[in-house]
Amino acid sequence: MKHEALRQQLIDTAVAMNRSGINQGTSGNLSCRCEDGLLITPSGMDYASLAAGDVVFVDHDGEPRGPRLPSSEWRIHHDIYTARADADAILHAHPTACAALACLHKPIPAFHYMVAVAGGRDIPCAPYATFGSQELSDRVVEALEGRNACLMANHGLVCLAGNLDKALALAVEVETLARTYLLCLSVGEPAILDDREMDRVLVKFRTYGLQRD
Ligand SMILES: [Zn+2]
Repeated sequence: MKHEALRQQLIDTAVAMNRSGINQGTSGNLSCRCEDGLLITPSGMDYASLAAGDVVFVDHDGEPRGPRLPSSEWRIHHDIYTARADADAILHAHPTACAALACLHKPIPAFHYMVAVAGGRDIPCAPYATFGSQELSDRVVEALEGRNACLMANHGLVCLAGNLDKALALAVEVETLARTYLLCLSVGEPAILDDREMDRVLVKFRTYGLQRD
């Protein structure tokens, strides 16, 4: 897809992200892979007022080009695309329930079979590092090994997917799981599905995904 169409799609998904309630203001950011690098939302600009020219292009060497500054977390996006050939869209936000668990340094265990939506038996929590730092990016890339989503300690959530719509859908799903897990924790410790069951679910998810596409 040409840059121009991708830029508009990125803006539309950013607006939809805020409408979905998983993000407030401009704390989150969204990107998609393009032929020669990536396109990412600019730093600190209201999504609803974005024009295609405000979207920032970052080349393969991590060099931003254009009149706007890229989101402060552009490194995470750049490094995930380098590490993960299966990522064509990335969403980062601070959804309330995910951020609450991340502040407790709690990964989301297999308390519900839908945890497999993120590609594994749990949804890990990357250790804390300062926002916008290379260290944070390294920790997130590591936590995402074998997963499509992870929490970020004292910060928020990162999701990757094959396109922007799927990245947003995954983020909404993970936030729903986080909210349900918090609700469980407010009453007691939920029962955790064992590894064998989660492996069965993961196989079913892979088949299900193929049928849907
Ligand atoms: Zn953030």
